[in-house]
Amino acid sequence: VPLAEEISGRLAEVRDRVAAACARSGRSLDAITLVCVTKTVGADAIRAAHAAGARNFGENYGQELRDKAAALADLPDLRWHFIGALQRNKVKYAVGRTRLIHSVDSAALLEAIDRRAADLGLVQEILVELNLSDEASKSGIPEEALPALLQTLGRLPACRCVGLMTMPPFFDDPERARPLFARLRHLALEHAGRPLPGVELRHLSMGMSGDFEVAIEEGATLIRVGTAIFGARA
Ligand SMILES: *Cc1c(COP(=O)(O)O)cnc(C)c1O
Repeated sequence: VPLAEEISGRLAEVRDRVAAACARSGRSLDAITLVCVTKTVGADAIRAAHAAGARNFGENYGQELRDKAAALADLPDLRWHFIGALQRNKVKYAVGRTRLIHSVDSAALLEAIDRRAADLGLVQEILVELNLSDEASKSGIPEEALPALLQTLGRLPACRCVGLMTMPPFFDDPERARPLFARLRHLALEHAGRPLPGVELRHLSMGMSGDFEVAIEEGATLIRVGTAIFGARA
C-alpha cells in the first residue's frame, strides 16, 4: 500500500472513532480538534495527512518543528502545535510558529514565552500542563501549583492561557485514564468561576492513540494522536 493511502485510511478510521465517541457522549464533532502528532514523522507523511484533510499538527522538539515548518511552508493553512517538553532556550522555535503551545509547566517558561512573543509583536496562546498522577517522571505541574501559575499570566500580556493539558502514564486499559481526564475538566470548571486576566480555560488537551475516545467522553477539545495515524515510531 502506498504511504499516502495508508495514512488517509488510518486518518479516516480515527475520524470514525472520534465521531462515535462524540455520538456516545452527546458532543458536537466541531468541538474536537484532532492534532496529528508528527514527532519523527517525515514531511512527506505530513503532506499525505494534509492531502487527506488534516490541518493541525503537533511537534515535540524545537528544531524538528523549525525544519518541518520550513519544508512545508507552501501549505499555508497548516497549523502547528508544540506539545513536548520545552526548554527556555528553545522557546524561539515555538513562539510565533505555533497556534498553541500545550506543554507549559513553569512560571519561568511563561515569562520566556511572553518575552519572545512581545519581541515579535504577537500574543502566544498556551495551555498549562498538569501532572495528575503522582508519577515523578512525568512532566506537568501538580494541581496545587495551578492557581499560582495562572496568577502570573496577569503580568504577561503577550501570553494567554486558553486551557489545560495532561498526559496520563501509559495504561493497558484506557479506562484507568478516565479519572485523570475527568479531574482536568473539573479543574478547568473550577477556575471558570474565578476569572483572572490572561486566562480563559476553554480548551482541554487530553487523549492520545490509546485513550482518545475516553478523553472525548470526558470533555477533550484537543486530542493528540500520532501512532494511530502514522504507525509505530522507530
Ligand atoms: C507522542 C505524543 C503524543 C501522541 O502519542 P501516540 O500514542 O503516538 O498517539 C501525544 N502527546 C504527547 C505529549 C506526545 O509526546
